[in-house]
Amino acid sequence: EEPTGDLNQIPTTIPHWYDPDGSPLTLESGDGATVFDDDGEEYLDFASQLYCVNAGHGNQQIIDAMTEQLEQIQYVSSSKHSPVRSELGERLVDIAPGDLSHVMFSVTGSEANELAVQLARKHTGGSKILTRWRSYHGSTYGAGSLTGDPETRALVESHAATTGSTKFLPPMSHPSPFNADSPEELAELAADHLEFVIRNEDPDSIAGIMMEPVAGSSGGYPAPPGYFERVRELCDKYDILLIADEVITGFGRCGEWFGIETEDVEPDMITFAKGVTSSYAPLAGVLARPEHVSGVQEDGFDLGQTFGGHPVGCAAGLAAIDVYEDGQIDNVRENASLFEDGLAELESQYDVVADARGRGYLWGVAFEDPATGEPFYDPRVDGDDVENPVSDVVSGLEDRGVLVGTGRPATQILLSPPLCTTAEEIETVLDALDAAITDAF
Ligand code: PMP
Repeated sequence: EEPTGDLNQIPTTIPHWYDPDGSPLTLESGDGATVFDDDGEEYLDFASQLYCVNAGHGNQQIIDAMTEQLEQIQYVSSSKHSPVRSELGERLVDIAPGDLSHVMFSVTGSEANELAVQLARKHTGGSKILTRWRSYHGSTYGAGSLTGDPETRALVESHAATTGSTKFLPPMSHPSPFNADSPEELAELAADHLEFVIRNEDPDSIAGIMMEPVAGSSGGYPAPPGYFERVRELCDKYDILLIADEVITGFGRCGEWFGIETEDVEPDMITFAKGVTSSYAPLAGVLARPEHVSGVQEDGFDLGQTFGGHPVGCAAGLAAIDVYEDGQIDNVRENASLFEDGLAELESQYDVVADARGRGYLWGVAFEDPATGEPFYDPRVDGDDVENPVSDVVSGLEDRGVLVGTGRPATQILLSPPLCTTAEEIETVLDALDAAITDAF
C-alpha cells in the first residue's frame, strides 16, 4: 500500500518542545522549587519540569555524590562489578513493597517498560499486555504501543501513516473508559470490564497488566477506590503479572515511596525512572521478583543497555533516596491536604473547574464548559481554529511566576512540585491559580 499523509502537517500535533515557536521561556538556573529565567525572573516550578525534579533544583548533596563518582570512575560496564550500582540496587529493594528483590537497570522509562514486557512475556509465555485508557507508558515503538492515551496513539498512528509502517506492535489491548454514578460503582464496572477483556482475549495469551497507580501525564487520574484490589485478584486468578508503572508516581511523589502503596496492593513488577535520580541523570529500571528474571538470566542475555545503571546516575539515585528519606516524603504527607482542600475550594467556587483529583504532590485539575458540561475543545486535537481557554490559565499562571504541567487533552492542568515545596509555596500557587481562573473565564 502507498504511504499516505503529509509530513508537513505533522507539526500541529508534535509536542511543544519540538516547536521552534514554542515556549519563549529560557530557564537558566534553579534552587529548590524555584527556577530562574534568562532575565532573572523567578518561577515556582509546579511541574517539576517533566514530573522528575523530585528533590528540587540545585541540590548540593546530589551534585556532590555525582561529582565524587565522576572523579572516582565515570563508567563501568554491566559485565563488571560496580559498587555504587549494587548499593543502589540494594537500596531500591529495601524501599520497594513486597518481595521485589531483583533490579534491572535501563536508561529511560520507555525502555524500563519494554524490559518489563519482555520479562513478563518470557515468564508467562503470553504476549499481550493490557493497559488503562488514558495511560502513558512511553514514546518508543514498544512503550508507545502500550500507551492507552488516545492523543498519543493518534500521534503514533499519524507518523505510521506517513512512513507506511505498521502502527503498533501487535497485540496490545486497552480496556475502555466508563461512566458511573459513584467511584465505587466505577471501580466495579471497570474491573468487571477488565475481566471481560481478559476472558475475551484468552487469559493464556496475556502476559501482564501494566498500570500507572495515578495516570500522570494524561491528567492525574487515580483509580477509583477498590479498583487495584480487583485488578490484583484478576491477575492472581488468571496468572497474569501486575506491572506498576511508577515512572511518575515513584519516589515520594504520592506520599509513599511508590504510588501503588497508596492502593494497598503488591505488584509483581515496578518500573521506575524520573524521580529515581531526581532528574540529575537519566536512569531507569525494573524491580521484579526473582522468578520473573531467572528465565532471562538462564538464557545468559541480560537485556541491558550500554548506559543502563550508569555509575554517575546510581550515585545520584543513592543521594536522592537519602534526601527523600531525610524529610521530603514527610513534607509531602504533611502538606498534601493543602492541595486537596485548596483545589476542592476552587472546584466549588468556579463552575468551569470540573474535577480536581490526586495524591500527595501529584494533582490534576480538569476544566469544562459549564454551558455544555463537556471539556473545552483542545486545539491540538480539535483543530487550530478552536480556542482553548485553559491555555489562558496556564499563561496567566506563568505571568504570576508559576509553571504547571498540561494534561492530555490540554483541558487539564497538572500540579506536581518538587517534594521540598513548602506549605507557603503551595498557598502562593493556589492563590495564583484562583486569580488566573478569574482572569481566564
Ligand atoms: N511511563 C510514564 C508513566 C511516564 O510518565 C513516562 C514519561 N512521561 C514514561 C513511562 C516514559 O519515560 P521516558 O520519557 O523516560 O521514556
